Amino acid sequence: MSTDRKKYFRGSSDGKAPTFKNPLDGVEDRYDLIVIGSGLAGMTAANVLARSGFKVLLVEQHYNLGGMATWFKRAGGHVFDISLHGFPIGMKKTCRKYWTKEIADRIVQLESIRFSNPQFDIETTFTTEDFTRHLTNTFGLSNKSVDGFFAHVRGMNFYDDSGATTGELFEEHFPGRNDVHRLLMEPISYANGSSLADPAISYGIVFSNFMSKGVFTYSGGTDHLIKLMKAELRRNGVELRNKVQVDRIIVDGGRVAGIEAHGRTIEAGSVLSNANLKSTILKLVGPEHLSSEYRKGVESVRLNNSSTQVYLGVKQGETIPFVTDLLFTSTRETFDSPSLCDKHGESRTFSFYYPKTRPGSDRYTLVSSMNAHWDDWAKLTDEEYARDKAILIEDTLTTLERLIPGTRRKIDYVEASTPRTFQFYTQHQQGSSFGTKFEGLGYSMNLSDQITGLYHAGSVGIIMSGWLGAANYGVITANKVDSFLRQLESIEA
Ligand SMILES: Cc1cc2nc3c(=O)[nH]c(=O)nc-3n(C[C@H](O)[C@H](O)[C@H](O)COP(=O)(O)OP(=O)(O)OC[C@H]3O[C@@H](n4cnc5c(N)ncnc54)[C@H](O)[C@@H]3O)c2cc1C
Repeated sequence: MSTDRKKYFRGSSDGKAPTFKNPLDGVEDRYDLIVIGSGLAGMTAANVLARSGFKVLLVEQHYNLGGMATWFKRAGGHVFDISLHGFPIGMKKTCRKYWTKEIADRIVQLESIRFSNPQFDIETTFTTEDFTRHLTNTFGLSNKSVDGFFAHVRGMNFYDDSGATTGELFEEHFPGRNDVHRLLMEPISYANGSSLADPAISYGIVFSNFMSKGVFTYSGGTDHLIKLMKAELRRNGVELRNKVQVDRIIVDGGRVAGIEAHGRTIEAGSVLSNANLKSTILKLVGPEHLSSEYRKGVESVRLNNSSTQVYLGVKQGETIPFVTDLLFTSTRETFDSPSLCDKHGESRTFSFYYPKTRPGSDRYTLVSSMNAHWDDWAKLTDEEYARDKAILIEDTLTTLERLIPGTRRKIDYVEASTPRTFQFYTQHQQGSSFGTKFEGLGYSMNLSDQITGLYHAGSVGIIMSGWLGAANYGVITANKVDSFLRQLESIEA
C-alpha cells in the first residue's frame, strides 16, 4: 500500500480493522453546484461560479488537486512536472481574468524550442515571425505560400468547418513537403494528441494560438500554481474535498439532483463533471437516462491517445548547460503521424527544467514524453510491464546521451509512467492524455439537453484540450451553469 493510501485508510498497528475517515465529513447536504474533478476545467469553472456568489462543492478522487496538471516529488529533492511543457499566451489572459494577477504574472515565455531529426535541425521561438523565417530561409518556401498558409489557419473558426483533414490542409499549401509537415505537425501532436487525420479546424485553432506569441510556461512549477489556485478557490468560498470518489450522478425525472459518493447523497441544483466525457455519461449518469441516439453517439466517440513519460532527476550539485527548453527529437528519416505513438518509437520530446522553472531552486530535471497507445501497455503481465518500462528508460537515456553527451552520468533518479499510470491517477479511460477526438465536443456541449442541469467541461474535441483549452472550456461551461442557476433561482423565488 502506498504511503498516501496508508494516510487515507488510517489503520492501527495492533491488527484491528482500519478506521475509515470519511472525506465528506462536514460537507453540507445541498449546494448550488457540485463540480466533479479538479482538472483545470473543473477548478476554473468552480472559481468563476463561486465568485458569482454560488455555493460550490468541488470533489476530487485524488489526494492532489489539478488532474493532469500535476507534479510529484521524489527522494533526493527531485520535483517532476507532468504536463508543464508549454501552452499558448492565452493562458495569461485566462488566468488574469478568471484566477488572479499573481498567477497570470508568473506565466513566462520559453526562450527556445528546438527540433532535431534527420530532415532538419533548427531552433525557434515558435512565433509566426520566426516560423516564417524558417519556412522561407531554411525550407526554401516562397513568402506567398507561407503567408497564404498563415492567413488560412488564422481564418479558421469552429462554425465554418470545411471538413478537410490536417493532412489535406498541409498538402494544399505545401504539397509533397514531408519535412514541412513534420515541422508543423509534430509539436501539436505532442501538445494535444492530434494527427494528420484529424480535422484541419482543430489544428488551425490550436496552431494559431501558439503562433501568436510563442510557447509559455508557469514560473514556480505546477505545485506552486495549484497551491495558489487552491487558496483562491477557498477565498471565494468553494468547499474543496479531495479523496472523494463520486460513484453516481443522480438524475430524477430528466433533471440532475446531486451526486452519490462514499455512501452519501449530496443534492445540487446543477452538477458539472470534469471527469472523462465517456465515463461521465455512460458510467456516472448511466445509459438509461439518455436518448438512444445520444447514447450511441457517445459510445462511438473516440478517445485520444495516451502518453509515456520518463522522468530524469539530475544529482544535487550537478548542472546542465542551457541547450533549449523544449526539444522535439526523432531518428526517423521521414515523418508520419502514427509512428509518434510507437511503443518503442524513435520520436520523443524532452522538456528541460532548469533552476529558472522554480526560481530560488538550484535543481535540474528532464522529462521525456512520447505519445502512446493504451493497447500496447494495458494487458502486460507485471514482468512484461517492468521490462518494457526499463526499455523505455534505457532508450530515453541513450537518446539523451547522444544529444547531450555527458548528461547520463549526472542523473541519479529515473522513473517511467505509461498509459496505465495516467488511467490510475485520473481515471481517464485508456489513460487518454487529451480527452476525446473532435466528435466528443458536441456531446460534451449538449449534455444539458439530455439531462437538465448537468454539464461537462474538460479535455474534449482537441480544441478544448491542454491547459488553455481546458481552462477556457471551464469558463464557457461556467457561463452556461450561471444562467441555468439564475433561472432556477427565479423559478424558486
Ligand atoms: C503527459 C502529458 C503531457 C501534457 N503536456 C501538456 C502541455 O505541455 N501543455 C498543455 O497545455 N497541456 C498538456 N497536457 C494536457 C493537459 O494537462 C490536459 O489537457 C488538462 O490538464 C486536462 O484538464 P481537464 O480539466 O480536462 O481535466 P483532467 O486534468 O483530466 O482532470 C480530471 C479530474 O477529474 C477527476 N475525476 C475523474 N473521475 C472522478 C470521479 N468519479 N470522482 C471524483 N473525481 C474524479 C480526476 O481525478 C482528475 O483530477 C498534457 C497531458 C499529459 C498526460
